[in-house]
Amino acid sequence: MSEGVKEDLPDLEIPQDLMNRIIEHARQEYPLESCGILAGKKGKIIRFYPMGNTEKSSSRYLMEPEEQLRVFQEIEKEGLELSAIYHSHPHTAAFPSQRDVDYAFHPDSLILIISLMEETVPQIRAFQIVKGKIEKMAIKVVQS
Ligand SMILES: [Zn+2]
Repeated sequence: MSEGVKEDLPDLEIPQDLMNRIIEHARQEYPLESCGILAGKKGKIIRFYPMGNTEKSSSRYLMEPEEQLRVFQEIEKEGLELSAIYHSHPHTAAFPSQRDVDYAFHPDSLILIISLMEETVPQIRAFQIVKGKIEKMAIKVVQS
C-alpha cells in the first residue's frame, strides 16, 4: 500500500455463511444475549467461535473465562488475529451499552452487535471502542 493513498477497505469482512451462523446463534439464545469470538486475518473473518454467556441475561453477557482462554490460545496457535467479539442485543438497538463501553477490554478487536429488536430484520453493526470512545466501523458481507 503506497502512502497517502486512501484505500476504501471494509474494517470487517464476513463470509455470508458465518454471518448466518452468528445470527442463528443470536436467535437460538433469544431472549438471552448470545456471545462469541471471530478470528481472522487483517479483518477478514475466517473462524467463528460461539461462546457460553455465563450471565444468562437479556441485557449483559460474560464469556465463560476458561472457554475464552482456550479459544484465545487456539487463535494464536493458528496464527490468526482476534478480529471481533460479538454479542446480541435481544431487545435493544445495535449500539454499545454503557456496560459494553466499560467492559471493552480488547481495544485491538472490534465489537460486533446483533440486534434482534426487529425480529425479521436483524441489525448488525461493528464498533471500535478505545478509552470510552465509540467509533462505527464498516462491515462487508462476502459470498463464501
Ligand atoms: Zn451490548
